[in-house]
Amino acid sequence: MVSTTSFTTTKSEEIFTAAQKLMPGGVSSPVRAFKSVGGQPIVFDHVKGAYIWDVDGNEYIDYVGTWGPAICGHAHPNVIAALHEALEKGTSFGAPSLQENLLAQMVIDAVPSIEMVRFVNSGTEACMSVLRLMRAFTNREKIIKFEGCYHGHADMFLVKAGSGVATLGLPDSPGVPKTTTSNTLTAPYNDLEAVKALFEENPDQIAGVILEPVVGNAGFIPPDAGFLEGLREITKEHKALLVFDEVMTGFRIAYGGAQEKFGVTPDLTTLGKVIGGGLPVGAYGGRKDIMALVAPSGPMYQAGTLSGNPLAMTAGIKTLELLQKPGTYDYLDRVTKKLTQGLLSLAKEAGHAVYGGSISGMFGFFFTGETVHNYEDAKKSDVAKFGRFHRGMLERGVYLAPSQFEAGFTSLAHTDEDIDKTLEAAKEVFSSL
Ligand SMILES: *Cc1c(COP(=O)(O)O)cnc(C)c1O
Repeated sequence: MVSTTSFTTTKSEEIFTAAQKLMPGGVSSPVRAFKSVGGQPIVFDHVKGAYIWDVDGNEYIDYVGTWGPAICGHAHPNVIAALHEALEKGTSFGAPSLQENLLAQMVIDAVPSIEMVRFVNSGTEACMSVLRLMRAFTNREKIIKFEGCYHGHADMFLVKAGSGVATLGLPDSPGVPKTTTSNTLTAPYNDLEAVKALFEENPDQIAGVILEPVVGNAGFIPPDAGFLEGLREITKEHKALLVFDEVMTGFRIAYGGAQEKFGVTPDLTTLGKVIGGGLPVGAYGGRKDIMALVAPSGPMYQAGTLSGNPLAMTAGIKTLELLQKPGTYDYLDRVTKKLTQGLLSLAKEAGHAVYGGSISGMFGFFFTGETVHNYEDAKKSDVAKFGRFHRGMLERGVYLAPSQFEAGFTSLAHTDEDIDKTLEAAKEVFSSL
């Protein structure tokens, strides 16, 4: 796998060339097009465990895991078996099902802030709905988000929104009316003083603060000690809501998400990715008195034809069952640390300035020698070098997120041998950059 001599991507190139005539940029979501690392994307054929096979038959160790959901490994036999069974009962009900109760109970048991939950179909939907709820509950219109944090592609959040947008070099997106984002205030991540200042400048107008409790959409950036606690205090003081967007971190950095890991309980939480086990699911939930506002229990409208889909609920339930096994997160923590520390020391040995880290099955590193506290720091990374690193790893059978500003993910299927092979490949690539 470490040899590059047999690496050909003829079929991927053919298919992607055709795709570009059919779909904007040839993709269904921008980052997949490899714009920020250069070269053509590979076209997938199938996935299993820690591996991907492309249409040319190349095998890769996968550190994207379909952007997080594949935390138990792709196509886990338990998930697939349960899906086969569910499939026989039909693909969509558009009516209540027992599976919704089961997954809802699992989410409520796991996530400290969640007393009640509403299922939707994506992280984007979860975040746009939670924003409506924040405003409905507080009767205030302004919100605070952080530079480099991504909360899906709803208009109100497309301000300094991290990876996808950053990768394309768009400061904002055309088509987003100024009036839509005029209530979106931004602060640098890890900067409590900036948040305090915004609250002082906008008294009784801020509905709440939303953030990625560990950033994954500007590369991997953990919260500084006291940052999450500080936000909890400030929001309480101003009678505003604290919302953790745990679409990425939920069931990923701990079973109960970042709020369990850091012991800070927000008022509301959004989920996605892992809770769908690879099928399209999002969710938002929180305190009962706030969730009671959601229709039809309350007046805040939000609905969805395919929401609570039985296949998606089934994949989510089976995935969470696998994650409940003892030692799961210790395992993720151990292999991910081995990978990340290995990458950092190999890079340094080869003379590259790097900075990075990991928490459980989430990791990242930047080509910069400086500490990364926020998006401004992250942007100092040498992205051209990252592009060459990415291509070198791809040619050696390692599939990394095709952007410097995305976190990486491991799974329960990643073995020590996979990590060793990855580090062997990285050693070669670092020496050639
Ligand atoms: C992926 C992500 C979203 C958007 O979820 P989609 O399912 O892609 O719409 C929102 N917030 C965070 C933190 C994410 O990582």
